[in-house]
Amino acid sequence: MSHHHDVIVVGAGAAGLAAGARLHRAGVDVRVLEAATRIGGRAFTDTETFGVAWDRGCHWLHSASVNPLRAAADDLGLAYLSRGSRQARATHLGTRWADESERDAAWRVIDSAFSAIKRAGEAGRDIAASDVLEAPEPWTRLARHWINLMSATEPERLSTLDYVAYSDTGENYPVEKGYGALVQSVIQRLTPTLAVTTGCPVTRIDWSGRDVALETPLGRLTAGQVIVAVPTSVIARGGLAFAPLLPADLAEAFAALPLGAAEKVAFHFDRDVFGVAATSYVDTIDLRDPTRRPINFVLNPFGAPMAIGQLGGDNAARLVEAGPRAMEDFGLAALQDAFGADIARHVTGVATTSWVADPFIGGAYSCALPGFAHVRARLSQSLGERVRFAGEAVSPHAYSTAHGAYLTGLAAADAALALLGGRTA
Ligand SMILES: Cc1cc2nc3c(=O)[nH]c(=O)nc-3n(C[C@H](O)[C@H](O)[C@H](O)COP(=O)(O)OP(=O)(O)OC[C@H]3O[C@@H](n4cnc5c(N)ncnc54)[C@H](O)[C@@H]3O)c2cc1C
Repeated sequence: MSHHHDVIVVGAGAAGLAAGARLHRAGVDVRVLEAATRIGGRAFTDTETFGVAWDRGCHWLHSASVNPLRAAADDLGLAYLSRGSRQARATHLGTRWADESERDAAWRVIDSAFSAIKRAGEAGRDIAASDVLEAPEPWTRLARHWINLMSATEPERLSTLDYVAYSDTGENYPVEKGYGALVQSVIQRLTPTLAVTTGCPVTRIDWSGRDVALETPLGRLTAGQVIVAVPTSVIARGGLAFAPLLPADLAEAFAALPLGAAEKVAFHFDRDVFGVAATSYVDTIDLRDPTRRPINFVLNPFGAPMAIGQLGGDNAARLVEAGPRAMEDFGLAALQDAFGADIARHVTGVATTSWVADPFIGGAYSCALPGFAHVRARLSQSLGERVRFAGEAVSPHAYSTAHGAYLTGLAAADAALALLGGRTA
């Protein structure tokens, strides 16, 4: 196998796969190197744990009407639900279900929290989202939980200006057989023969010469151009080193766009224990205990006897650190409060994620720290036209999403193609 290529892509998530596929399709000698033993990165549909497809990472086609992966799902005949997810269908308060007026009150507070963040951002203010939150207890906890899920971080570390840069059509559609599987089907259809070398972490990129040199477990590989499609956190903490060092403004950008925490705990049951419609949404908040953080669930997703709990921000990171059993206990306690202690007898399997602890990922999705919204644009600059970056964090208006990552991969491939003399995909 050659040690020199026209282009090497580092990272085989949605962005790296899209870049590799477009280049390969255009006849370019491209090689994709992936540190993990599987491809997909944060787009990962797990079919093995329960024998039912569920997404450990991305699951909702965000901004569906402008999302190219939604159009691809249509072409591929892959089903998704065309209804919103954000507003939970029911809210459990620890001892009972909220009535309609309580639910309205809760959502008024949640909506007004998001509106306050948007107003600040739209006024050009780059401040911490927490500075504009006025949500009164008890619903402030739920509002913070939803901010945690949307941004993967705490409002204290969320830039209002970055938040409003995200373009949201409000259409968030779950994919039946999994968003991770959809991403892989799209790549497969683009080019069935794209070769990805897995288990191959790149440790150093030397861009001092005309060719770029990469240190890998396969030895030193070289390429005319390199597309780096790894998460910001990996670069910020030196998991992938550069020689010469990254320019200071770029290094600052990677550090100021950290990945927050969003995690899932999934339960599989021997039968339907909830008695609710397929793909029902439930929020839980314990009004008895102000220190207990909310968790929300998708119940019976697409008819499977499952509950998938979603955690965000510091609570998610804390539970990963405490271990899978702690996350399981946290999720099951909320489900038992809402549906009875007896449901525990019907659990046939539990799975938890730990994205924040994954050395090749390091979190969920990027969000600018307060005062740093302007640095996201810096990720679009190249290093001497030889090294460019792709990935969700690079997307100006669809950052944090799979389709944003995918589009940046295609754009990086197009830029590489232009340098290679105008070959077309
Ligand atoms: C719990 C969770 C829920 C989410 N929900 C949604 C959702 O519903 N909808 C949505 O659109 N998005 C969602 N996202 C975000 C979405 O999954 C990501 O934005 C997107 O998948 C990121 O793609 P990427 O290609 O930028 O990065 P990644 O998928 O992280 O890919 C980067 C790849 O680089 C590899 N890598 C790292 N270091 C190296 C190295 N040194 N050498 C070689 N390879 C390396 C990694 O192993 C990884 O495979 C969610 C994410 C999480 C974690």
